[in-house]
Amino acid sequence: MIKFALAGNPNCGKTTLFNSLTGSTAHVGNWPGVTVDKREGVYKKCAEPISIVDLPGIYSLSPYTPEEVVSRNFILDEQPDCVINIVDATNLERNLYLTTQIMEIDVPMVIALNMMDEVAKSGDKIDAKKLESKIGLPVIEISALKCQGMDELMERAYEESKKPREGTTVLKHSALGHLIGDVKISLEGKGVSSPLFHSVKLVEMDEIETEAHSDCVKMVEAFKKTFNDDIFGTDFEAMVADGRYKYISQNFSSVLTRNVKKGEERLTNSDKIDKVLTHRIWGIPIFLAVLFAIFHLTFSENFLFLGGFFAEDWDPLKRTWFEGLIFNGGIFSPGVMIFNVWNEIIVGKLFGLIGSGVESISGIAPWAVSLINDGVLGGLTAVLSFLPQILILFLFFSILEDSGYMARVAFILDKLFRKFGLSGRAFMPMIMGFGCSVPAMANTRTLADEKERTATIRVIPFFSCGAKLPILTAIAGAIATMSSIKNPDIITYSMYLLGIVVAILSVLLMRNTTMRGDVPPFIMELPSYRTPQFKSLMMLIWDKAKHFIKKAFTVILASTIVIWFLTNFTWEWKMIEDKTAVSQSILASLGRFIQPLFTPLGFGSQLGKYGWVFAVAAVTGLIAKEDVIGSFGTLAACLAAAISVEVADIDIDGGVSAVQAMVDATGATVPGLISFIAFNMLTIPCFATVATAKAELSSKKTFNLTLLFWIGASYVVSAAIYLIGTWPLTAIIFAGVVAAVVVGIVLYNRSHKIA
Ligand code: GDP
Ligand code: MG
Repeated sequence: MIKFALAGNPNCGKTTLFNSLTGSTAHVGNWPGVTVDKREGVYKKCAEPISIVDLPGIYSLSPYTPEEVVSRNFILDEQPDCVINIVDATNLERNLYLTTQIMEIDVPMVIALNMMDEVAKSGDKIDAKKLESKIGLPVIEISALKCQGMDELMERAYEESKKPREGTTVLKHSALGHLIGDVKISLEGKGVSSPLFHSVKLVEMDEIETEAHSDCVKMVEAFKKTFNDDIFGTDFEAMVADGRYKYISQNFSSVLTRNVKKGEERLTNSDKIDKVLTHRIWGIPIFLAVLFAIFHLTFSENFLFLGGFFAEDWDPLKRTWFEGLIFNGGIFSPGVMIFNVWNEIIVGKLFGLIGSGVESISGIAPWAVSLINDGVLGGLTAVLSFLPQILILFLFFSILEDSGYMARVAFILDKLFRKFGLSGRAFMPMIMGFGCSVPAMANTRTLADEKERTATIRVIPFFSCGAKLPILTAIAGAIATMSSIKNPDIITYSMYLLGIVVAILSVLLMRNTTMRGDVPPFIMELPSYRTPQFKSLMMLIWDKAKHFIKKAFTVILASTIVIWFLTNFTWEWKMIEDKTAVSQSILASLGRFIQPLFTPLGFGSQLGKYGWVFAVAAVTGLIAKEDVIGSFGTLAACLAAAISVEVADIDIDGGVSAVQAMVDATGATVPGLISFIAFNMLTIPCFATVATAKAELSSKKTFNLTLLFWIGASYVVSAAIYLIGTWPLTAIIFAGVVAAVVVGIVLYNRSHKIA
């Protein structure tokens, strides 16, 4: 099959075009570096099917970061039949810089002038015909978003792919033109393909090239001796870059006619927004407020803190269908309302029907009823009930990302991050971690410095992902009913912040000890603000939902069945008929074995006879984090039965109540529960993430240390939470001792350095 490659700057719309052409739903994001690996799809509307490859966005073909290497190597080595160079028409001159480099490769090429809808809207004009004749390559106006010009683009590209093309350079008439020509002839003699491209890179003294063709380096060195530019001296790399820019502004700027009046207005509008959002002092508080607003909208049971205005038994809603769905002393936030509707009507009713249906089958074995009702349905309900809130949270993050705000946040945080030894660029993979750690870790390939990359990979799991959300929400719900903190949204928000703070402290620690290194300069540019597209948001949400449901019915279903089996059988392989005898189960004895490990964290031996459930849940989280609450759901029926002898009136439905059953059975305290959340957030992440970390980290040793780091961080932080929450006074004394030790070490180090 013939193959076309999509190449262009970050954020120019490659993935959008890729999706339009191939009908896929790859992630589109309004910040650079969303696509870090190449991706393939098929376009079927030409005379023959065409394979389309979406490459990572790059600014140049001199590779500095791993993603640039991917793109460069693909174009050079795999020799696509045509390169579609996507150019963001709203940022013409800067985008053409890359164009002038791709041109030098011997490969058919067309230019797709993207975002023409925005150009038209702003009133600017671009003369595509003129650009085409000046640059000597086909130029097609498109809008990837509105699917305009797709057919024409592909027809032209298809035509071009049938004709070989020899590279051309805009540097022909520059001071280096002769040298480039000479080196090219010598490379041609050696049978190198794309000699012009390699010749220019050699003149720039690009490391990859000088290693490959050391004989040609002599030609460049010799030329340097006879040469001295007024401005650049013998820095040929800078001269080449300057040559490209000069050529672009001299030859191509006349292609664009700006709508002067409109242009100014637009600029000031965007600037005005940025003045506020990226303010030196207010930037970070605004970001924290935006985050809180998101959590409040998603989790609050006291929306806009209106609770005080209503009487507890506000009449109009009492005894109606609404009560409990949208109001309960305070108005529920939209997230909680959707959560309630989903759980009351869909999960609750549907699973309830299946459950009673199973029970009513005549002659069904009791173990089968228990397997389906407690094992499968109990576990699935606990996990699936959180789907709406996971999607809502994800939707908000996608909106922030698509609008261009997240890129601003990276910019605001850059100054702060620098103090900790990271560049603002590292913020992007981190914030992606709120969705899922797996793509987030892959995204660290945009970081040029290996040590910065390792440090970032290690802290990504601390940015609590969607799968951890059930743990947070379910336990926050239980805490809210147990304690004086009546707003679960504040608890969830604080736990997210805790993750961020631990991440920052860990980075600080690593960058000052084992992962020392300079922070590379932050060269990301700010994308323009855009209204998030409804269609692409819905596609994202749909993908996320599909992924979650698939996981629920595969990995999580399988684990809950295993948990059910281990809870209902003894070591003699006998089914436990009497649910109250759960302590005799295999799981209980395994759990009791590891239970003491968690005593310092507040959910170990002190929780007594049934305390092993927390130990077991934490371990199942290593498979998938949803399993933590899934296990509670599966265990809930047994535990409730076991303790109903001692405590009356336990009602099990959905995740929140499953946690409640655990709390009732074990007497877990609020500090113990918070410590349990923290432990699960910070400890070794799920299986898939661990595998990704292993693939992305540079060596086996770094990977092993990373596992140790996760265990250590979770253990220390959870123990601290439990200690502070339970014995504040002891904690203060303890903190004093720790501080004294730290000061001691620092002083000791200093005196040693001097001596
Ligand atoms: P990539 O980084 O090059 O893959 O770029 P994306 O495909 O992720 O797109 C970056 C941003 O540009 C997204 O917010 C898109 O919605 C937006 N975008 C892409 N193509 C167009 C277009 O033709 N018109 C407009 N107005 N926006 C576009
Ligand atoms: Mg992309």
